[in-house]
Amino acid sequence: MTVYLVGAGPGDAGLMTTRSLELIAGADVILYDRLIPDGALAGARSDALLLDVGKVGGGAQVPQEATNELLVEHGAAGRAVVRLKGGDPFVFGRGGEEAQLLRAAGIDVEIVPGVTAGVAAPAYAGIPVTQRGMAAAVAFVTGHEDPSKDETQVDWPALAAFPGTLVFYMGVRRLDQIAAQLVAGGRRESEPVAIVERGTFADQRTVVGSLGDIAARAAEAGARAPAITVVGAVASLHHELAWFAAGPLLGLSVAVTRARAQASALAARLVALGAHVVEAPVIRVEPLEAALPADLAAYDLLCVTSPNGARRLLEIAGDARALAGPAIAAIGPGTAGTLRAGGIVADIVPPRAVAESLVETLAGRPVKRALIARAEQARDVLPDALRARGAEVDVLALYRTAAEPLSEAALESALGADYVTFTSASAVRFFLEAVGAPSDGQRVVSIGPITSDALRERGLTVDVEATEHTPDGLIAALLQDVARR
Ligand code: SAH
Repeated sequence: MTVYLVGAGPGDAGLMTTRSLELIAGADVILYDRLIPDGALAGARSDALLLDVGKVGGGAQVPQEATNELLVEHGAAGRAVVRLKGGDPFVFGRGGEEAQLLRAAGIDVEIVPGVTAGVAAPAYAGIPVTQRGMAAAVAFVTGHEDPSKDETQVDWPALAAFPGTLVFYMGVRRLDQIAAQLVAGGRRESEPVAIVERGTFADQRTVVGSLGDIAARAAEAGARAPAITVVGAVASLHHELAWFAAGPLLGLSVAVTRARAQASALAARLVALGAHVVEAPVIRVEPLEAALPADLAAYDLLCVTSPNGARRLLEIAGDARALAGPAIAAIGPGTAGTLRAGGIVADIVPPRAVAESLVETLAGRPVKRALIARAEQARDVLPDALRARGAEVDVLALYRTAAEPLSEAALESALGADYVTFTSASAVRFFLEAVGAPSDGQRVVSIGPITSDALRERGLTVDVEATEHTPDGLIAALLQDVARR
């Protein structure tokens, strides 16, 4: 019986630890905060219980007591519980309190440190928190506004006298008081200060100044939480060492509707380009029990029509040699890639990733007996065309797609996104069943003609259609659309 208190790092998903990803992938229950990286939960199991216990600054929040109760309840039930927190769980994360509480309840805890914002946000702004000759020590300080309590918690004169860099968490709304207290304690008004807002996220911003003017500069720039405030000579190194550049999708939010298990690669690429990704996996892939025909070698063609199909086919085959015999056609590069990862190089990949293109590519090829490995519900273009050519065609249903219920909040953020992306006709169907329709002004992006047809059939306008019907193609089309507008 162990509850894992896990740090998710400050925002850039690339800064999550291997251990955190491993535990997320295995968890039955994940209780997560608001300040975790986009896509942090992408690797969670589809049947995992994901609970948002985030504390929205000033707004509605799950009280700590409720979080505590959930932790103990799920922990005591023997579930694999991950408590996922922004940054490091033991740095201003109440991780220590939660650990004490779990111990008191007789539940073991394991702590997985994370990259803390107080070091990472400055680093992404080109500010080393220690530097030879400039700062031989660094202090992490809470700048949380709670005058009644904090006045007694933070010893301002001692901090002012501290011989090194001061890193304030949670202090951005109280900058004037922080600066005033430090100056009153003897620090120079000209001492450099840097505020790093949303450090390591694609929309990171840095505001620099000095103790004398930082409050005014921050107000002017509209600096907001989450932000780290660095006070000390090292803050001036930002001018020399800043390196983080904004991506082309900065300032745009993009909803990803595909199944959670597949969304991560697409989401990660969007995030790397600066987009804010809203995960709205409206669809779920359910594997079906299936067996390969005993006489597979007697077929002359095996068509695999999606990466999901390829994955499940490899699963039921168990050994790549079980698929020996027929020529293998993959509908597109994604499917071919999944097959390749399983040790199978497709013989046929059509130029466009749609059934029609595969039919054309197969035109010159004599086919007597074909097996089509695919989803339970799928278009019949391919079997019909092969049958029309006189082939005997069997369909092997490997998985089905089902609606994945999403929280009200998730649906609402999806509807608030600038772009909504669809990578299949079934995602279109499930999305519209869940939300009704995209909101006005939202740009609708489709991976290809079949998905576009599904959108148009339901009366929607397709704003962007990928020319290459792959996730990369979809991103390329989206980038073009952004550049045009
Ligand atoms: N455990 C976290 C800190 C939680 S307290 C950690 O180790 O990083 C929340 C505060 O952390 C925020 O108010 C802000 O000051 C800081 N913070 C968290 N993420 C941040 C980010 N990406 N950029 C800047 N500051 C951040």
